[in-house]
Amino acid sequence: MVKQYDYIAIGGGSGGIASINRAGMHGAKGALIEGNAIGGTCVNVGCVPKKIMWHGAQMMDEMNLYASGYGIDIPSKNLNFAKLVENRETFIERLHGSYQNGLASNEVDLIHGYAKFVDNKTVEVNGEQYTADHILIATGGKPVFPDIPGAEYGLDSDGFFEMTELPKRTAVVGAGYIAVELAGVLHGLGSDTHLFVRQHAPLRNFDSIIVEGLVETMEREGATLHTYAVPEKVEKNEDGSLTLYLKDGTAHETDAVIWAIGREPNTDSLNLAATDVAVNDGGYIKVDEFQNTSVKGIYAVGDVTGHIELTPVAIAAGRRLSERLFNNKPMEHLDYNNVPTVVFTHPPIGTVGMTEEQAVDVYGKAQIKTYETRFTAMHSSITENRQKTYMKLVCCGPEEKVVGLHGMGSGMDEMLQGFAVAIKMGATKADFDDTVAIHPTGAEEFVTMR
Ligand code: FAD
Ligand code: NDP
Repeated sequence: MVKQYDYIAIGGGSGGIASINRAGMHGAKGALIEGNAIGGTCVNVGCVPKKIMWHGAQMMDEMNLYASGYGIDIPSKNLNFAKLVENRETFIERLHGSYQNGLASNEVDLIHGYAKFVDNKTVEVNGEQYTADHILIATGGKPVFPDIPGAEYGLDSDGFFEMTELPKRTAVVGAGYIAVELAGVLHGLGSDTHLFVRQHAPLRNFDSIIVEGLVETMEREGATLHTYAVPEKVEKNEDGSLTLYLKDGTAHETDAVIWAIGREPNTDSLNLAATDVAVNDGGYIKVDEFQNTSVKGIYAVGDVTGHIELTPVAIAAGRRLSERLFNNKPMEHLDYNNVPTVVFTHPPIGTVGMTEEQAVDVYGKAQIKTYETRFTAMHSSITENRQKTYMKLVCCGPEEKVVGLHGMGSGMDEMLQGFAVAIKMGATKADFDDTVAIHPTGAEEFVTMR
């Protein structure tokens, strides 16, 4: 017998949970199918455990870089890494409970197992078949491993979260969000960390002021950066250590290698061949602006579509889809423009809108005016380590509409959200100037730039 629902979501991560709950709030009978832990990447091996580790590293930085400047003597700065991990995982267990409660309150059935399509209307889980008028694919993504000898000696970001001991030395390979975040955490917690990027800099597609800030800050107080470093192979040594060999002939001895070279969509288990769902070259599910796939009644949101791979994006797309399908809002969809994002480096990076380079490409150099500032963050003004803040506004046209805002500095993670509202509303430089500053903060510099 095939069990019938109004809505089935495959994947109990950010997008699937948000969408099925919203559908339930509008009275749809839904089922959520999850093969692994509820919460998906973000809760189990992404944003949440990462942010906890980031806070841990920030606290270590406060003790190691700043406390003495404030006259605070901390005799023992020892880290009990296993305790940190244990407390983190206990917190995640609590989150699992609250997700389950949320599903129950919206009368969503939680089905444990991996779903595979039988046809365009039916999925199978553990031998049982389920059908619905509307089926959502929200199966997320997974880390990529490099195809080089000895790659298996390294860990991916999932493996990082399984660590119960802090390696004395770590080599992180990659140049995106995950590479810089994990390198920062490991360095802050006390591992002798080296970041290997294959080009001139990490985060090289971010605005130039971010790249400048990140490279300068790493040089002063972060992990050791190796540029133009392309891994060739990894060998395991007799004492259990690893050697990372690079294509330039150099070798680097370490205790752990972490690959952070990108992610790919999770579609293998879905048996998409039984459907007419189209995928693009990278294997990501093709969707239109309404999250429709090439099959009527099958939708996709989140990382599996390869658009902006962020939790709030998956959530927003999933909720809007349910508003469209189950709350009579036929035009509801997510606008993927001006999505703010934070990279949890030390200090954090915040960015919304276009980089200067993108704005020049789109509007032409004559239309673009930028405002920049670099200054010592006040919290480090009396300490030995002087941490800098970097900020840039990218403005367009005679009205100087702010089309991009970029910063790296203390508190940038928390200051970005409000500025993102202003930019989404179309704020101009004059609107920024007309806003009275909050003093003394770092944020005030965004409204006082000349
Ligand atoms: P996921 O959350 O990945 O959920 C997909 C779920 O589908 C998984 O639970 C999987 O088990 C399940 N699944 C797969 N196949 C099947 C199947 N056939 N049947 C049933 N279930 C299946 N984003 C932020 O916004 N902020 C951050 O700070 C941040 N930090 C991150 C740090 C790391 C280390 C990583 C890896 C990611 C981070 N992200 C962050 C990105 C964020 O985690 C993802 O964008 C988000 O989780 C995507 O949600 P999703 O619903 O598309 O997929
Ligand atoms: P990214 O796509 O951000 O970065 C991976 C980078 O690694 C590439 O851009 C590339 O940079 C480099 N790379 C690729 N292949 C190789 C290789 N073979 N050897 C060495 N370097 C290589 O992927 P991530 O896995 O870091 O993150 C995936 C996504 O998850 C992010 O884009 C983001 O959307 C999300 N995320 C969000 C976070 C947040 O919100 N704070 C945190 C973590 C993840 P180059 O070409 O310069 O070498």
